[in-house]
Amino acid sequence: MEDPPLNARILIIEDNPANMELMAYLLEARGHQLSFAADGEAGLAVAFAEPPDLIVCDVHLPRLDGDAVVMALRQHPALCDVPVVAVTALAMVGDREKLLAAGFDGYISKPIEPETFSQDIEGFLSRKHGTPQATAR
Ligand code: MN
Repeated sequence: MEDPPLNARILIIEDNPANMELMAYLLEARGHQLSFAADGEAGLAVAFAEPPDLIVCDVHLPRLDGDAVVMALRQHPALCDVPVVAVTALAMVGDREKLLAAGFDGYISKPIEPETFSQDIEGFLSRKHGTPQATAR
């Protein structure tokens, strides 16, 4: 497997301030350059303005939920192959398939595990959307 690039540009779309703060802390500690949005529409606007290397996206979001965000990203020529990782507390059977069908590349379960989060995210960095891959966990 390729080493993930350092100093990746990562967009975090998350409406929960505590989760946002934790993810930002963990990813900034690894040297990544972050941008932020607290709802789905704002997330799309930030992504369209400057396509990042990877997007971390909450599933339950104001204005546009995560499924709608990732579907819109997949329609955009500059964003269609950017890896998008869902961060979600959903745990029911079938949710993983629903997330992948919507266009996510994988998901990371909440609560966020500080010991593994950055490594899990970095595992998606070198993968273009649409290439065969295993998802986290
Ligand atoms: Mn949320």
